[in-house]
Amino acid sequence: MKKYKFIFTILSLFCFLSGSLAKDQSKTVWVENGKAIAVIVTADKPFPIASYAAKELAFHIKLATGVEIPVKKESEKISSSMHKIYIGQSNAAQKEGIDYRKLESEQCILRSVGDNLFIVGNDGEGDPLDPHNSNSGTLWGVYEVIEQELGVRWLWPGDLGTYVPDTKIVKINNWDKTIKPAMSARHVRTQTSSWKDGAEKLLQGYSSRKTYDQYVKEENIFLRRHRMGFSKPNFPTAGHSFGNWWKKYGKEHPEWFQKLPEGKLADEWRKNYHSFWPIDSIPVGGWKNHRGPGKDFGTSMCVSNKEFQKEIVKCWQKSMAENPNQKNVIELGENDTKALCTCKNCRALDAPQLTVEAIKSLPTFIQDQYIPMNAGRRYAIFWKQVYERAAKIDTNVLVTAFVYLNFFVAPDDVKLHKNMILGFVPWGAWWFPRDPREQQWLYTQWEKWEKTGATLYFRPNSLYNGGSMPHVYAHELGEDFKFVMNHGCVGTDWDGFNGQWAVNGTTSYLLFRLHNNPNKLVSNILDEYYMAFGPAAMQVKAYFDYWETHAIYNRAMSDFGGSTYIYNLFAYKIFPPECFIPAKKILDKAKEVVAKEKDKQYAQRIDFLIKGMEHAQKEAKLSALFNNKETSKKEIHDAIQDLVNFRYKTEKLNIANFLISADKDHNAWKERYTLK
Ligand SMILES: [Zn+2]
Repeated sequence: MKKYKFIFTILSLFCFLSGSLAKDQSKTVWVENGKAIAVIVTADKPFPIASYAAKELAFHIKLATGVEIPVKKESEKISSSMHKIYIGQSNAAQKEGIDYRKLESEQCILRSVGDNLFIVGNDGEGDPLDPHNSNSGTLWGVYEVIEQELGVRWLWPGDLGTYVPDTKIVKINNWDKTIKPAMSARHVRTQTSSWKDGAEKLLQGYSSRKTYDQYVKEENIFLRRHRMGFSKPNFPTAGHSFGNWWKKYGKEHPEWFQKLPEGKLADEWRKNYHSFWPIDSIPVGGWKNHRGPGKDFGTSMCVSNKEFQKEIVKCWQKSMAENPNQKNVIELGENDTKALCTCKNCRALDAPQLTVEAIKSLPTFIQDQYIPMNAGRRYAIFWKQVYERAAKIDTNVLVTAFVYLNFFVAPDDVKLHKNMILGFVPWGAWWFPRDPREQQWLYTQWEKWEKTGATLYFRPNSLYNGGSMPHVYAHELGEDFKFVMNHGCVGTDWDGFNGQWAVNGTTSYLLFRLHNNPNKLVSNILDEYYMAFGPAAMQVKAYFDYWETHAIYNRAMSDFGGSTYIYNLFAYKIFPPECFIPAKKILDKAKEVVAKEKDKQYAQRIDFLIKGMEHAQKEAKLSALFNNKETSKKEIHDAIQDLVNFRYKTEKLNIANFLISADKDHNAWKERYTLK
């Protein structure tokens, strides 16, 4: 037995050596012994994206090796002994038959020819940092090389968040591949508000417009490094489409709008369902024969009404005739309210309803999707009927809509066309952490909508949660996102990103990293993050695991999952002072572990995490003060001043988008949050 093992070891050692030898022979050296052996070459008049990509490559090679690789124009004199890295379209690329004009949007060819490398994408005009600039193939190619060959990882915006393994030699592999982003739309709404000088809220985040602008710039660079952006042509997304219809048609056609509940049904709704706007405002006995908005809320549509459907198609025809160059789309996104029509025809389209008891037995977040009724099937049929009516006129027409609120539950028996584009919007408290039953139920809904044949994109609101606190949910978010990406998702549109780069660092990193690497394991991506802390990787993992468990524990014990804009109002409940003690201990240990390291970035990154936690502690303290009726005005004033001072002192570190933090404070405490 032992003998075999020995022979096997020798054999595998031989294979390993010969394998690496063969591989090494095909490698090209760019940097060795402190000297550049390669030169970056662009066209004489490169597109802005190619110039920018060249700078990015030189910048990261310098970070890794300390060596500056020259960037030259094609017609300049270049020593023949230098290896060439051609970036963007060039005469040399054309000679090799690599033509950027034949490439698709955002596509890039990476090809080694001898010791030269060509990185050629679908170049064109436009600001390289503009997410809507889809002439970005060359830049994506350069980032692919930086990631694969230099091992660079972008953890958060700015230099400290850029992890670059030190090396003395850069030897790159033979490349021959064509790349393209995994989805045609990759979008996270970073909520960067525009600056209005002197506005109190803004000055509670940053000391000046200049520092805020710098933050935004570094964030934009970060987003592009993660290949955030859009291909062209891109699919259209849905909006709330009938906002002005009541004003326009309400008088003449009240029957196109929701018929509100009356009699026994209205009283049943009032009695059985937890208070959810607008059920709260139903008068006893309901609204007799009432169409259109109830008290204080918007109106949903009577989607089974054939005349209403005809009018939608008529509007689309008229609009297309007026402007034939616009996108050929009919938007059917319901207004931002629950579906409430109780007319006979609408109800006849619904799937059999669950009983009150059955709804009450479901986990919290699922219940709402059935209240006051499950209208998913009704809406699927509405979209289909409008699409079919329009497709008889023009088969290229697209229809967009939301899978949302109480029209979220997928139908079992409706087939839809791929030209019907649906935004999947878990909303109404779909916060992390979730009950595993909720997570599974959500996957089932996606799969069923996928099975209808419609095209799906992901439009979550879950990132709104967490305020400025270490409300960590990396694993669940990662699995969620991977699931939809591996089930036909054509793009993302994440709303509500909080920009909490320090306290929610692992969640943020996963979110961006997965956009370009849907097949990578969540744990692998998280390990990349921890690795950037060198010998303290283990402690950093423990730190984030601690907060993730803390979030799950609190949801399990108190069912506190989150609360959108006003999370900070409740932060004192889930983050009492004592919960920070073990977390601080872990980071102190991490600091100790890296104290003697030559690379000072490890310690600086741990300091970054500590500062993030200090900011959260100040927020939690403020939350507790606001909650206590005994607190004096002065105490609150001092605590806000202390928080703002802290932000000014740390504003260049990018531990958070402090403007969002200040915005959340205002949402939570309204006019009480002031320094006046
Ligand atoms: Zn109706």
